[in-house]
Amino acid sequence: MNDTCLSFNLDNNLFRGRIVRLDKVLADIMAPHTYPENITAAMAETTALGVMLASLMKYEGYFTLQMQGDGPISVLVTDVTSKGEVRTAVKFDAAKMQAAQELRKTEGELEATPHWLGKGSLIFTVDQGKSTDLYQGIVDLQGKTLAECAMRYFKQSEQIDTYLRLFVRQNKSGKWQAAGILIQKMPTDGGKENNSEIDVADLWNEAKILTDSLQEKEIFDTQLSLQDILYRLFHEHQVAVNKESEYHFGCRCSRDKLFASLSNMPQKDINELAENGVITAICNFCGQTYSFNKSELTKH
Ligand SMILES: [Zn+2]
Repeated sequence: MNDTCLSFNLDNNLFRGRIVRLDKVLADIMAPHTYPENITAAMAETTALGVMLASLMKYEGYFTLQMQGDGPISVLVTDVTSKGEVRTAVKFDAAKMQAAQELRKTEGELEATPHWLGKGSLIFTVDQGKSTDLYQGIVDLQGKTLAECAMRYFKQSEQIDTYLRLFVRQNKSGKWQAAGILIQKMPTDGGKENNSEIDVADLWNEAKILTDSLQEKEIFDTQLSLQDILYRLFHEHQVAVNKESEYHFGCRCSRDKLFASLSNMPQKDINELAENGVITAICNFCGQTYSFNKSELTKH
């Protein structure tokens, strides 16, 4: 199975969509970590959403989807470069997580990601380098599911009707898989509209119902290509695939970048971090360890 996202149009460009299925990229993201199931599920789901959202944007650089909250998970972040490199990281409190789980008595069940984040926000950032402005959108984290939170973002921040679903599961051989589908009304260009608003509303409702009919076992069926799935769902809506993008795991951390951020820390903090004169920092994304001698970071 590939790590692919397809861009498609429906009903002669009235609506655009994305469908994504991730497999190996998730295994690579999870490989450096041993996290509880709920954390892994939340990371997998966030990665699928991040890839789908990134593919909606035109950018050269990187797109970041970040959620932060006051719950057991304090930060969940995925970023996707314009070259298709994806990485995801999480910060969570295992004790809080366990307490929340006992309170809800949902052992063995994958709970929706927003429950673990609690009150907080969802932030989209597009960073195209130093010479351009940072694009950023923020919305309160509200919704029963991550998909609901993302739909709320589009409604509030962009005023674009968007419908999306996310799927995450651990298959029989223990591998994590995540997938998603999104449809969106194209902004009307005013003037030459062939369809009356009622027609568009009807078509949009139909497209949403069809999107809703997609089953988990279908989207994860390796016998079906993403094209097959789209055709099954939307063959009466002139579905046209216009782009296929591949994704792979990649981290942008480096010794130089870490050195730069450590160098900006107050001397007092550096002293606290040092053990036997050595400061060890681990990348939250890829697990790479970097060591620095305290003397390297000492300001003269
Ligand atoms: Zn890294």
